[in-house]
Amino acid sequence: MADKVKVALNGYGTIGKRVADAVALQDDMALVGIAKTKPDYEAFVAAGKGYDIYAVDPVKAESKFKAAGIPMAGSSKDMIKKADIVVDAAPSGIGAENKKIYDKMGKPAIFQGGEKHEMTGTSFNAAANYDEAIGKDFVRVVSCNTSALCRLVYAIDTAFGIKNALVTLVRRGGDPDDIKRGPINAIVPDPITLPSHHGPDVQTVLPHIRISTAALKVPTTLMHTHSVHFSVDGTPTRDQVLNALKKWRRLWLIPGWFNIKSTGDIMEMGRVLGRPKGDMMENCIYEDSVSADGDSIELFQAVHQESDVIPENIDCIRAMMGMEKDKKKSMDRTDRSLGIGDFKPWKVAPPSKAGKVSVELPM
Ligand code: NAD
Repeated sequence: MADKVKVALNGYGTIGKRVADAVALQDDMALVGIAKTKPDYEAFVAAGKGYDIYAVDPVKAESKFKAAGIPMAGSSKDMIKKADIVVDAAPSGIGAENKKIYDKMGKPAIFQGGEKHEMTGTSFNAAANYDEAIGKDFVRVVSCNTSALCRLVYAIDTAFGIKNALVTLVRRGGDPDDIKRGPINAIVPDPITLPSHHGPDVQTVLPHIRISTAALKVPTTLMHTHSVHFSVDGTPTRDQVLNALKKWRRLWLIPGWFNIKSTGDIMEMGRVLGRPKGDMMENCIYEDSVSADGDSIELFQAVHQESDVIPENIDCIRAMMGMEKDKKKSMDRTDRSLGIGDFKPWKVAPPSKAGKVSVELPM
């Protein structure tokens, strides 16, 4: 078997820690390590998993790591040097700064949705434009909302052809650990100008789609919800729409009898399934909401902002490194390793060593 591709994680917060765990689960990738600005509970857990921890600024951090008893493997530049590719999951805007380092060190890198499309010129969603990332040095995986929209838009466009898409996004105020974000008690048009940036962001991946979006921020940390309306070519039946959606593992149709009434129920489902971190990486489409009338298709979908981009990062690594030319094969490999589209309870053995995390999927 070919050597594993060595992946470094620069930025280990909400997204970075999930990408690191997902990389460690791939049998064609090895996690070089993760970079942290300081020791904290995330570094403590990463050390427990056997990940090598590098410091973003070793001069500032060395004594802190020493005091915390967390071994520091070197600087983030040492980590990047050892890697074949870097996944940058630093806060929005910092990726643009970090790109100068990757450029200088000649390392390919993936950036997240908080960075601008123009920075890489290629924005990515596995189903929609995998081929565009093949062999590229710099690619941006689009944001959580845009990733979910691209998956859905691509499935409907492939099946029926989209004439026009109108989407209202109800966005979570912050992630569970984002104590400085809000609102606490209000509904905020965000942005107040229309349309929102999400439509143009979808067009960075699928330029031919006519789409207009509006977004509101609400006081919750539990997922986003999209109210979606498509005008399509022809007049598909509801069954035809459901069948088109069922073809994609990353689109989960929530059966009505599950009695899932809200994002609260969906997140609880992730927890009781025993999904790692309780994550739900699929678009969660309420099957009862799916309706078809003439050339119109309507539905509600919920999007777990902390995790839906994780499989997209894994596929993006395979595309950029030329490890797999066939998007379906890469997506299948990623989905199976992460349990996507699998709604049987998970059993995850405690990881022993970075890159050698053992996972047992129920048959
Ligand atoms: P986060 O704040 O949770 O994590 C970022 C981490 O990077 C922090 O641990 C921070 O200490 C560290 N960091 C700071 N400066 C750094 C540097 N110079 N080098 C390396 N690491 C540094 O952020 P996040 O929510 O994980 O977001 C990361 C990116 O992912 C952003 O572009 C964001 O827009 C995007 N994104 C976030 C979400 C979400 O809902 N959280 C969803 C999809 C995409």
